[in-house]
Amino acid sequence: APHWAWQALYAAGLLLLTYLLIYLRKLRHRRLPDPSVPAPDDGAAPSNNGHRWRRIGHFDRPAYCGVSGGAAMLEGAVCQHCGLCVSDSELSVAVRAVPCKPVALIPSSSSPSSDADIEGTPHHWVEGNLPAYSMCCVCRDACGEAGRLCDLRCAWCQRCVHPDCAQLTANGAPSTREGGEANKISNADASQRRQLPRLCDFGRYADAVVPPHCVQLSKPTRRRQPSLLSMVRAPRLPAVWRPLIVLANRHSGGGEGDQVLQRFRAVLNPAQVLDLSEVPPKVALGWCRLVPKGVTARLLVCGGDGTVGWVLSAIEELGLSPPPPLAIFPLGTGNDLSRVLGWGPGSSADDLDSVDALLSDLANASVDRLDRWLVSVKPSRSMLLSRSKRLTMSNYFSLGVDALVALNFDSARRSLPALTGSRMINKLWYFGYGTRDLWERACRNLHRRLTVILDGRTLNLPELEGLVVLNIASWGSGCRPWGSSASPTVSDDSSSAKMSNPASSAAQPDAQLHFRPQSHGDGRFELMGLHSSFHMAQLQVGLAPAIRLGQGSNLQIVLRSGSVPVQVDGEPWLQGPCTFTVAHRGQAAVLRCATDKSQG
Ligand SMILES: [Zn+2]
Ligand SMILES: [Zn+2]
Ligand SMILES: [Zn+2]
Ligand SMILES: [Zn+2]
Repeated sequence: APHWAWQALYAAGLLLLTYLLIYLRKLRHRRLPDPSVPAPDDGAAPSNNGHRWRRIGHFDRPAYCGVSGGAAMLEGAVCQHCGLCVSDSELSVAVRAVPCKPVALIPSSSSPSSDADIEGTPHHWVEGNLPAYSMCCVCRDACGEAGRLCDLRCAWCQRCVHPDCAQLTANGAPSTREGGEANKISNADASQRRQLPRLCDFGRYADAVVPPHCVQLSKPTRRRQPSLLSMVRAPRLPAVWRPLIVLANRHSGGGEGDQVLQRFRAVLNPAQVLDLSEVPPKVALGWCRLVPKGVTARLLVCGGDGTVGWVLSAIEELGLSPPPPLAIFPLGTGNDLSRVLGWGPGSSADDLDSVDALLSDLANASVDRLDRWLVSVKPSRSMLLSRSKRLTMSNYFSLGVDALVALNFDSARRSLPALTGSRMINKLWYFGYGTRDLWERACRNLHRRLTVILDGRTLNLPELEGLVVLNIASWGSGCRPWGSSASPTVSDDSSSAKMSNPASSAAQPDAQLHFRPQSHGDGRFELMGLHSSFHMAQLQVGLAPAIRLGQGSNLQIVLRSGSVPVQVDGEPWLQGPCTFTVAHRGQAAVLRCATDKSQG
């Protein structure tokens, strides 16, 4: 048989296998019970006393065992929730004798209707291993600097305090093994001394934290199953309570996802931080139904655009109304949606440390609308691999050279997070790289094989190898191809854009005379054309303008013959003759960062 036939067979087999794996994953998720949010690390490992340990092979600053004190230890474990450090030999003691910060304080026996309010949550003091440059919240002196296990930090409000200062303000801080250092206190100026609130106020971001005295767990129905959150009350706060639900996959972003989860578990209630590799979005979104009426839970999705799309689809499938507003903590690369909403192109190692900065950005973020589009694919002939498809798009949908990029090995691995874990699939993509030639041929003379109907009007297509439907301004990892000018011919006001590809002036689309400014919440998409992969490369570095074909709210594309690479929000496939339709599906609520991190 000729060489190309083997290649085609290989590509077909690969797609079939991919499809099968995705289908199997879907089946597995479908078997889960009704959405109800599981409590973290409870039930599954009740012997841990609430702690979630992380092994540290080498502490980067001196750490002291929270159980035995003693000299600085080289290795040990630290709790992601409360920050307690223990040496390996004392781990079993810590698990037995030192409870972690509690997730819920309302006893599961009390009926949900009873109004027996718990007064509040006490501070959860953890001794020693304070952050560098900590300051006592009472006397304003340096705290935790003694070079041994000393002083206290609350695992909720993050206040640091000397044990004696805490005692002076007559609150219930535990006495430590250290003797009195009261003389130090008396030296401090009494007028500078601050009061330590008796109950914890959850610090600066109290409006985002779900306090444990407002949470009730139900007992697990079966053994070795986690307890479920059964009720959440609104705390009494001076400000509006907007609980933040953090969703991240611990495997995403090359381990960055895990670090983000750990940072938020330390600052928030661990129950409001959910690992999408353990809890699917539909179950995690049970939070939106748990909070009392009138309270708006905010979502923070940590991950790539694929993860964000996954969560947005889950919100739509659950029919949450009003939809919870969603913010993005970008992980990995790409992240076009995150860029246009001001959350930046992707996290760096520094950003991971600035959970504080992120929480204050969230406090100032404004709610924005994001159009969601339904892309349906109806094959012309019944073929094994070309079944009808319906996908939801919030970034872009493209045919031809742009989708070809997504089909090549690296991007395919990134854009199919469902398969990233599978080493075998990665290998198959790698060896399947040779099929790229085959796909490239599939983009040739695309304009001759397409009929494009925009809002009922058939377009006269210029010479094209690619077609892109844009919902957001950013495309292909930060490129802004549509530009801001209203003229149909020039894509951008910048001088570089005027060095246009000579071919583009010859190919005048029959577009409207003027374009309205691009917006991702106006119920219209932008349709642009690409001459070639070379034109696409020029566009990405700002050396050529896009071919603006039009703006509209309904699109029909008929692929009459051959096949073409297609992608919807980074999910690529090879599509045979069919009819594509793009129609408005609805709007999602998203949060826009007030201080745009994409600039500077
Ligand atoms: Zn702990
Ligand atoms: Zn506190
Ligand atoms: Zn003090
Ligand atoms: Zn729009």
